[in-house]
Amino acid sequence: MTGVRTVTVLGSTGSIGVSTLDLFDKSAAEVEILALTAGRNVALLAEQALRWRPKLAVIADEDRLEELRQRLTGSGVAVAGGAAAVVEAAAMGADWVMSAIVGAAGLAPTLAAARTGSVIALANKESIVCAGPALLEIARAAGGKVIPVDSEHSAIFQVLAPDCAHRVARLILTASGGPFRTWTRAQMAAATPEQAVAHPNWSMGAKISVDSATMMNKGLEMVEASYLFGTPSSRIDVLIHPQSVIHSMVEYEDGSTLAQLGPPDMRSPIACAFAWPDRLPWPAPRLDLAAMGQLTFEAPDVERFPAIAIARAALDAGGRAPAAMNAANEVAVAAFLDRKIGFLDIAPLVSDTLSRMNGLGDLQAGVGDSALEGAMMVDASARRIAADALSRRPVFH
Ligand code: NAD
Ligand code: MG
Repeated sequence: MTGVRTVTVLGSTGSIGVSTLDLFDKSAAEVEILALTAGRNVALLAEQALRWRPKLAVIADEDRLEELRQRLTGSGVAVAGGAAAVVEAAAMGADWVMSAIVGAAGLAPTLAAARTGSVIALANKESIVCAGPALLEIARAAGGKVIPVDSEHSAIFQVLAPDCAHRVARLILTASGGPFRTWTRAQMAAATPEQAVAHPNWSMGAKISVDSATMMNKGLEMVEASYLFGTPSSRIDVLIHPQSVIHSMVEYEDGSTLAQLGPPDMRSPIACAFAWPDRLPWPAPRLDLAAMGQLTFEAPDVERFPAIAIARAALDAGGRAPAAMNAANEVAVAAFLDRKIGFLDIAPLVSDTLSRMNGLGDLQAGVGDSALEGAMMVDASARRIAADALSRRPVFH
């Protein structure tokens, strides 16, 4: 890691975006920010822009562009609004791009950044779920790379020795189990959005928090791991580890298992993605294993958490099935957060959407189109079908 690096943060006002800028503040990282982008939080975006003085600040919600302009008048920071402007910001060719938009909305900007050969620090797991192989190939062809930020994939990335990648027996993705790990199905049926977003270990955005509660987060991560590390689903296991200290493991064919440990703080995997293969010194919280006493493990309950099996099936089906699953899940999570469906309706809405798309041949949509167009066609079709199911059964339970 030498000299000043140019950086763009996509989704700078979210949980990962804020942690990224905080890490820059607290560490010796030398950065010049090219662009910051946000969805709707214009107040925080303007505050960040005044602090970091990027060349460009972009708000995806065009209705808020005027407010952003007013807040940044005289600052020397250029402003822009709309989804296309977010893509343009991503394509400015920064040395390092943090991809931390939530949902499939992150796909077009992430692909645009990959095309310029930037190093992509990938938090936005939905983009790799929607178009993983294409994203990795585009980054490789442009001379860039994708470094995972998701803590499990960062862990595997750190302990997976390239020389013996062909000797991997299993990837073991650890999962906290979320806020409902010990709840009965009857309790889960009555779970509120407030309870679902109250994660025991991690502080995160609302969507990923609900995904952690349903364990669809682990399902998305299984797809992410399969694409990132070229591992079939049969060699990826999920292990519940409520303390979230072991972030994931790689088991080799000689019986040796390597794990990466750390406190549940996303700034550590972000630091890893920034400095790799070097290490970024910063006053990180440290593990105190003696004080902790014990680390525990259990098998996931596939009855209460069907999302893991849904994701495994989508990964095995291949093609655009993971993109369809992701879109249906985004619709279902938004409906749950809007109190339109119950917590236990989320997984069935996703699996019903996938079955209906399969029946209609819709999973073939976009085959032959570019990765972005194909994924977006399937994404739109899955959103339509899931929304249609919602409108016909406004109250599921
Ligand atoms: P968040 O909701 O806190 O932040 C999302 C960011 O994206 C915000 O800046 C928001 O303004 C922006 N955004 C939302 N919709 C947008 C749109 N349509 N166009 C442009 N920008 C938009 O989410 P988060 O928790 O920071 O998660 C971001 C991504 O990182 C997700 O894909 C999540 O799965 C992944 N991730 C997060 C964590 C975590 O600890 N928070 C851990 C691992 C992976
Ligand atoms: Mg994770």
